[in-house]
Amino acid sequence: MKAMTEEHVFQCTGCESECDVHVRVQDGKIVTVEGNDCPTGASYATSQCKMLLNSKDNQIKQPRC
Ligand code: SF4
Repeated sequence: MKAMTEEHVFQCTGCESECDVHVRVQDGKIVTVEGNDCPTGASYATSQCKMLLNSKDNQIKQPRC
């Protein structure tokens, strides 16, 4: 089965550089984080991406009323 890959871009708000951080997700798991100029950006983008993935999971699992 072919792996499902998606990429999300989050703009880090840690400082005035506002780096665009690219997060690649494969089969629902974060596999790469690129574009951050410091560890703060990786941490920020990873947490944002996890929240996004969790909200997607909840949308799929919760029945619509
Ligand atoms: S990744 Fe680092 S350098 Fe880039 S905006 Fe965030 S805090 Fe600033």
